[in-house]
Amino acid sequence: MNERRANRDEDAWWRNGSTDLGDGHWSKPIVLDGEHVAFIVSHLKPDGVTMCWSTVFFKGDEKKRPIWTLVSMDPLTLSPSIRCSCGDHGFITNGKWARA
Ligand SMILES: [Zn+2]
Repeated sequence: MNERRANRDEDAWWRNGSTDLGDGHWSKPIVLDGEHVAFIVSHLKPDGVTMCWSTVFFKGDEKKRPIWTLVSMDPLTLSPSIRCSCGDHGFITNGKWARA
């Protein structure tokens, strides 16, 4: 499999079942043991092809991992802001990505 093909497959996985937040960002629900506990928030890297992502939990043990406040499920609003390991930083408010 060449690199270009791999990127397309990865892109399809991220977008399948994802919600477009705008500005090159998507959210995808994560269900553990039948319970919706988190979102994967993905975004396009500056190369415009490959995806980068972080997991944003709104349920779970705060001693084990950061837990965001789910202000609203629909339209999605999470608090506080989300900073990806790559440095990408912004807010999800009313179902839209807003750069911090
Ligand atoms: Zn990132």
